[in-house]
Amino acid sequence: MTNPKHFNKGTQVIHVGNQPDESTGAVIPPIYQTSTFVQSSPGEHKGYEYSRSHNPTRTRLEECLASLENAEYALVTSSGMAAISLIFQSFPKGSKVLCGDDVYGGTYRILNTIYNDRFELKQVNSTDLEAVHDVLNSYKPDLIWLESPTNPMLQISDIYAIVKASRKIGAKVVLDNTFMSPYFQNPLDLGVDMVVHSLTKYINGHSDVVGGAIMLNDKEQYDKLWYLQNSIGPSQSPFDSWLVLRGIKTLAIRMEAHAKNAMIIAEFLENHPKIEKVIYPGLSSHPQHELAKSQMSGFGGMLSLYIKGGLEETKRFLEEVSLFVLAESLGGVESLIEHPAIMTHASVPLEERTKLGITDNFVRVSVGIEDVNDLKKDLNDALETI
Ligand SMILES: *Cc1c(COP(=O)(O)O)cnc(C)c1O
Repeated sequence: MTNPKHFNKGTQVIHVGNQPDESTGAVIPPIYQTSTFVQSSPGEHKGYEYSRSHNPTRTRLEECLASLENAEYALVTSSGMAAISLIFQSFPKGSKVLCGDDVYGGTYRILNTIYNDRFELKQVNSTDLEAVHDVLNSYKPDLIWLESPTNPMLQISDIYAIVKASRKIGAKVVLDNTFMSPYFQNPLDLGVDMVVHSLTKYINGHSDVVGGAIMLNDKEQYDKLWYLQNSIGPSQSPFDSWLVLRGIKTLAIRMEAHAKNAMIIAEFLENHPKIEKVIYPGLSSHPQHELAKSQMSGFGGMLSLYIKGGLEETKRFLEEVSLFVLAESLGGVESLIEHPAIMTHASVPLEERTKLGITDNFVRVSVGIEDVNDLKKDLNDALETI
């Protein structure tokens, strides 16, 4: 058979890491639910000693994920935050971090309350290339942390341009690619040094696992991250890795369905009299629509919107939807809706939130893969009540 890594992504998700079990012929790989492995003589084993260090089910998932991001290596962790934290741990004390000003709430929290005495931190609007150039030259960061699209404002940064500028000062660039999944965007191809994912979201896709991953090409950095993971301990359990291996098989068709539904909903809402504004990278009204087209192969399933009205109307709308589940998280097959100011982004100080546009009438939507007409009707019915 051709090396499955050379197949397209829709085939890779099914075949890389999912080859039949050699010892039994089982088509679906077993869950190696074991903490330890027998040795024939002290130090002699088949590559596995203890499941915190390595586990064959996790290895299969790492193979699949590395392949999808066009990476040499992948490391699977117990959560997205564990992956993010391992990357921060791999940078020495005193490093200068430059972070996008609109990032996942947990990333903001860990930088500001856990690693605040380890790093110097500056934030920048990474969609503003001029501002990025200025701060790169004056601040000279060691690490640049990006999300594109950002959460929850869905702003797009010019990844290649930032990578090029960072090379001049020797800074490493990390991109949190959770929102696009490896199906729609491959930042390593644009020169990014490390990609991080919350597997909890699109990659697993069924809202039943928490997990994370780091994909990269640099062997030395991979060894450092593996050493940290093995020493600190946030390795994913074999059962959770197996569930992700199962969920990931439909990543290609799910992402296509998410993006198709999101586009229809975005257009529907953009023309709705109760809606002030919709933010979706696939809309031509999105300020970075052209850039999005050039560096992503699809626009994803996340959109944000402003209700015409204030907190009262917005709460009403969120209470009235019934098919959309009012919950944090995103990227599952079911549609979710949430209020960032009160829910996911409560840890971002009010002043910062307001500056970003996370106001009381702001709502984030993770468009699922249900029948889109049912989704439209649910939103419309809820909007009619306000
Ligand atoms: C959810 C999320 C994370 C954190 O992942 P967990 O699996 O919840 O720890 C990080 N970044 C983004 C963009 C996310 O959406």
